[in-house]
Amino acid sequence: MELTITAKIRIYPSDNQIIVLKDTMHKIIKALNCTSGYIYSNNCLVQREIHDNLYYHLRSSFGLKSQMSASVIRASIAKYKSAKTNGHDFNLINFKQLEYDLVSNRDYSLNKDKFSINSLQGRLHIPYETKGMQKYFDGTYKFGTAKLVNKYGKYFLHIPVTKEYEECKLDDINQVVGVDLGINFLATVYDSSNQTIFFNGKKIKFKRAKNKSLRKELQKRQTPSARKRLKAIGQRENRWMNDVNHSVTKALIDKYGKNTLFVLEDLTGIRNATKKVRVNNRYVSVSWAFYQFRVILEYKAKMNGCRVIVVDPRYTSQTCPKCGHIAKANRNKKKHTFCCKNCTYTSNDDRIGAMNLWRKGIEYISKETIEI
Ligand SMILES: [Zn+2]
Repeated sequence: MELTITAKIRIYPSDNQIIVLKDTMHKIIKALNCTSGYIYSNNCLVQREIHDNLYYHLRSSFGLKSQMSASVIRASIAKYKSAKTNGHDFNLINFKQLEYDLVSNRDYSLNKDKFSINSLQGRLHIPYETKGMQKYFDGTYKFGTAKLVNKYGKYFLHIPVTKEYEECKLDDINQVVGVDLGINFLATVYDSSNQTIFFNGKKIKFKRAKNKSLRKELQKRQTPSARKRLKAIGQRENRWMNDVNHSVTKALIDKYGKNTLFVLEDLTGIRNATKKVRVNNRYVSVSWAFYQFRVILEYKAKMNGCRVIVVDPRYTSQTCPKCGHIAKANRNKKKHTFCCKNCTYTSNDDRIGAMNLWRKGIEYISKETIEI
């Protein structure tokens, strides 16, 4: 099984290199828009034909080298094709940001301490830093077509890295872990040794609630500076959630290791997908953060010989894990408790969710193994 992840690294061009990069990027955008105009007015996506009509024009008008001209043509065609695949009408596409794809070992390469890229002034050798991404540069990953990104005056390289992993087989699973996501406890975990772990989410909950009132205030103002601050708050929240999701998923993988089956609720496409949580008399939607948790856990699981399944979330918080009795009244949302009306089994309600997910995982394994 192959797994591809985008490794984002920062590069540190010198002032002179920045001038060259900017000039190169600028001309490439112009060339992309020129090609886009040709594609649109001739309604033509045939590479050969575009190449025959534009190649020398791109080279002479924008000073592009041979490989860059070819890349520009390919990138423009790809953009139109993906617009079509995504169901958009055939409209003129305007390139604003650099969309120049860097093909590995042709437009760029990486050695131990330098990133080398084709520019209009020949090859540039730029120092880079792989902070937090070191493992993708240990020589065991294959590099794909990268993108050079200029954000807030900083330069980054987004490289898809691919590696072959051994898939975790159902027969090999020796641990099942139910993971219930919530906001009081960011994640409540129940495993095959009947152990429960709570990852506290209170800090995040308060931070988000605080931001929400600040947000409302800023939204009313409608000034450019208010909009700027709003954006900054959004970005900061994303970073927190990202950090939290990374650390919780890492803790889970580290604790349980290879051959673990993680069971999550499938919150996509269901009415309660926006699992709303009450925070100081307001409801905060946290669905995107849960979705991100799932994505992160899924790729980490693949890398570490584990599996993730998502199951129907209905009744996970209302079902008694001891006797199977399902009733809304089993759960007291306000008090965060669960008390079965049938057998009186009592516990924390988040823990019940995790226990029921764990049970669904056990059922999943036994069903699948019988079918095989
Ligand atoms: Zn019961």
